[in-house]
Amino acid sequence: MAKGGKTGGGKWRVATRLVLAGRDPFAFEGFVNTPIYRGSTVLSPTVAQFVGRTGRYQYGRRGTPTTDALADAIGSLEGGAGVVLTPSGLSAITVALLSLVKSGDQILVTDSIYYPTRHFCDTALKRLGVETIYYDPLIGAGIADLFRPNTTAVFLEAPGSLTFEVQDVPAIAKVAHARGAAVLMDNTWATPVFFRPHEHGVDLSIQAGTKYLGGHADANIGTLSATEAYWPRLKETHGSLGICAGPEDVFLSLRGLRTLGVRLERHMQSGLKVARWLQTRPEVQRVLHPALQGDPGHAIWKRDFSGACGLFSFVLKPNAQAAVASFIEGLELFGIGASWGGYESLAIPFDCSKMRTATKWNPGGPCVRLHVGLEDPDDLIADLERGLARLAST
Ligand SMILES: *Cc1c(COP(=O)(O)O)cnc(C)c1O
Repeated sequence: MAKGGKTGGGKWRVATRLVLAGRDPFAFEGFVNTPIYRGSTVLSPTVAQFVGRTGRYQYGRRGTPTTDALADAIGSLEGGAGVVLTPSGLSAITVALLSLVKSGDQILVTDSIYYPTRHFCDTALKRLGVETIYYDPLIGAGIADLFRPNTTAVFLEAPGSLTFEVQDVPAIAKVAHARGAAVLMDNTWATPVFFRPHEHGVDLSIQAGTKYLGGHADANIGTLSATEAYWPRLKETHGSLGICAGPEDVFLSLRGLRTLGVRLERHMQSGLKVARWLQTRPEVQRVLHPALQGDPGHAIWKRDFSGACGLFSFVLKPNAQAAVASFIEGLELFGIGASWGGYESLAIPFDCSKMRTATKWNPGGPCVRLHVGLEDPDDLIADLERGLARLAST
């Protein structure tokens, strides 16, 4: 992975590494940032170098100084053995799974998984002869009961998509490793700044960099870090599938990385302020945010995570069903749209009662997911307050 950059391994704290990692200015005439290399063909000065593949770069798809800079930087945050980049978060997930499974295998996947991951398991993986069993995200060490001799991987995501259940990652990883199974985790919510998957027993750590790494809703990218044991097959699978991330999106991710720490800190503080305010509102039944005291996942979140991002959900009282659309559509500062992690706030309604199979989702009222952006949180609260008044009047 590293080309001897200046990240200094574990020497620097995270905020410092976000500034230094993946940069080597004097390799680029002193320019502070690694430039965007575009290219397919890489010329060799001699036939011997071309045939022997002894040059640093051989072909654009297999890596450029720009992609190396980002892979090195992510590697310094994740602390694994190697990193590959993919053109989206979902492709990081599919490459990770394809690097592990073969026909006849069974995999265990959390019921709270990002829905497109579930779709991939239930369609493409099923056609390849891989069976997916979904488990309750709160199962903990009880996951042992689901293992069969052909169980080869466990896929976690914590907190869960839309509903924010926190899993006991170390307990699940311990059981999986005792059975020789690999542990994968979608760590998009916390990013490696707030949760370091490899330190908690995860073999393949996945991040949809589209969200906070890019941070400006203008790029699609995925990052995938593997431990020593899983790095060779990850690298091989990524290469043989012909996966590569676009140069501009890689550059935007490097740019986003430099401010990731301060942005996340603000998303966390503003998100908590809005979440605590929602808790005081009579229209709100429940706020789903693991950093709130009293949340069912709070104790494990506090034990394993060092922060929270700006994404969480809340459940309204049942009588609000008919008025949810007018509540959301009338918000001036929250856009209606998929994805999150940009500087801007978003609000979407959701109902995952039909997505879950191992657990029942029956919250007793309409649900809304918020992404709290970098606006002034008091403006966001005032906007939501006017929205809740609309709920009452419709
Ligand atoms: C958005 C998201 C992804 C997928 O990322 P894309 O870049 O949109 O493919 C994966 N996992 C989680 C948890 C996400 O929120």
